[in-house]
Amino acid sequence: MQPRSSQDVCGTGAWPPVVRFAPSPNGYLHLGHAYSALRNYEFARRHGGRFLLRIEDIDIGRARPEFEAAIFDDLAWLGIEWDGPVRRQSDYFSDYAIALEKLAARGLIYPCVCTRAEIQIAVRGHSQWQRDPDGSPHYPGTCRGAVHAGLAYTMADRPVSQRIDMSYAISLLQGPLGWCEFGEGNESRFVSAEPSSWGDAVVGRKDVPGSYHIAVVIDDALQGVTDVIRGMDLFEATSLHRLLQELLDLPAPNYRHHKLIEDEAGRKLSKSIGSMSLRELRSQGVTPEQIRARLGLIETVSPAGLV
Ligand code: GLU
Repeated sequence: MQPRSSQDVCGTGAWPPVVRFAPSPNGYLHLGHAYSALRNYEFARRHGGRFLLRIEDIDIGRARPEFEAAIFDDLAWLGIEWDGPVRRQSDYFSDYAIALEKLAARGLIYPCVCTRAEIQIAVRGHSQWQRDPDGSPHYPGTCRGAVHAGLAYTMADRPVSQRIDMSYAISLLQGPLGWCEFGEGNESRFVSAEPSSWGDAVVGRKDVPGSYHIAVVIDDALQGVTDVIRGMDLFEATSLHRLLQELLDLPAPNYRHHKLIEDEAGRKLSKSIGSMSLRELRSQGVTPEQIRARLGLIETVSPAGLV
């Protein structure tokens, strides 16, 4: 790992940029996705770069081919064309498994059989128990202790995930860890990463050899992504991504976290609150220009009626 300082991390940005839009095909795209896709696309086109499309179907239980087909269709409707072939994460599990093996060989991850319910029970009664940025309690270390003590921890008939040994991983860092953040503008600032806020996070799921966190850093590196343009909801996860990049000796892209699109009640749009999908808006006669206007990307068309 190379030592880094705030001076050598932040510059003026890479040229030509390579960006990606990386939706998960577990529902239909809504306005928040449209904003992210359009920001990526317009950034690439403005700077003579490449815009890649990645299908993040690592959650195989929730991914559906019809949602993937709808992503292609919605992007085409918005006037967005991607460069090169689509990368589908489920085609690359072996890449993620190799990364996990590298971490395992250095004692940076450990197998864990605990269920969410068991973790909840373990931390119950500890009102001050630390939680990660998504609100989940930090893993109490049950399996880490067993593995490090060399106990014959019985995992035979239980699904096993892989967790990062966060304290050990942080102890290996040789300099300040952070990233270059541009937000929605052209000025960059160095943001210090705080991976410890995630505790011993899962980096290998029980059902597949990988996780969102491992897959995203491997894919960004293998696809040569220079600028990660994504919503502020993933800002905190960037701390963990930067740690994994350092541990796996992967390059650090620039990050450009953008605002989240809210509905009229000020709620972040999401499938779970039933936000209207792009295809529903389209079926009501809304045009791509009106979508752009609602998102503040052009100002000439009335966005009336769009939420
Ligand atoms: N697949 C994630 C999502 O749909 C995006 C991940 C990323 O951009 O890093 O929210």
